[in-house]
Amino acid sequence: MWRTELERRSLAFRLIVSVDLPHALPHAVARLRAARLSRSVKPFLARGGPKGERCSGCRLVPSHCLCTLRPDVPTHAGMCLLMADIEPLKPSNTGWLIADVVADTFAFGWARTEVDPALLALLSDPQWQPYVVFPREFADDARVVHEVTHVTHKRPLFILLDGTWDEARKMFRKSPYLQHFPVLSLYPEQLSRYQLRRAQSEAHLCTAEVGAMCLALAGDTSAAAALNAYFDVFTEHYLKAKQQLPVNLTDDVHLRLQMATRAM
Ligand SMILES: [Zn+2]
Repeated sequence: MWRTELERRSLAFRLIVSVDLPHALPHAVARLRAARLSRSVKPFLARGGPKGERCSGCRLVPSHCLCTLRPDVPTHAGMCLLMADIEPLKPSNTGWLIADVVADTFAFGWARTEVDPALLALLSDPQWQPYVVFPREFADDARVVHEVTHVTHKRPLFILLDGTWDEARKMFRKSPYLQHFPVLSLYPEQLSRYQLRRAQSEAHLCTAEVGAMCLALAGDTSAAAALNAYFDVFTEHYLKAKQQLPVNLTDDVHLRLQMATRAM
């Protein structure tokens, strides 16, 4: 029996909120970030923002918060992010955006000497068909594929190695548990639009762009468009925050995101 009417109403309200806001709970990358932060001996200071307050939902300064623009789209595919040590702490990390958009996103910190048993359990779960997403020149030809094959009763799970290029290559070489999965090699038809960090090569795609290409290959074309548009909006907010300029919510990038989300 309810102790008070107020208590009953409060529980009912919480239930409604949790049903209405599926993204309200912290996603996998946010949880990984929190875990990594709790292990830090000294606080991690994001470049350029020593004591600036940041939104916990999108990591941007509150005046440039992106949270209300997060797309809510269904996807068939899942994403598994293996992240280099401090990657989840960087406000510019775009694996976070994948977790915002793709409900079935899993994220694990990578270490050469140990592996999370939960990662091994995920990779051996029969509902998933894992693909390691990596350039073909680093893999044996026999493992390389360029397309996602539809397998009955299985959903594609894209394993993205999220770090600097050197870290990603190390993860690829030194993770024996990945070596029996196909290597999905992408043909980036456009150069990276990523302007937040200087890429080591112009054709080097950032994690969110790679994620969007994988979604498109898996047939999740609407989600791919939404993720691309959301990435552009994130870039815009991030850069404008850095320049201390306001964002224009009716400019082209915002309209494209609205269109991509409306097309659902
Ligand atoms: Zn926010």
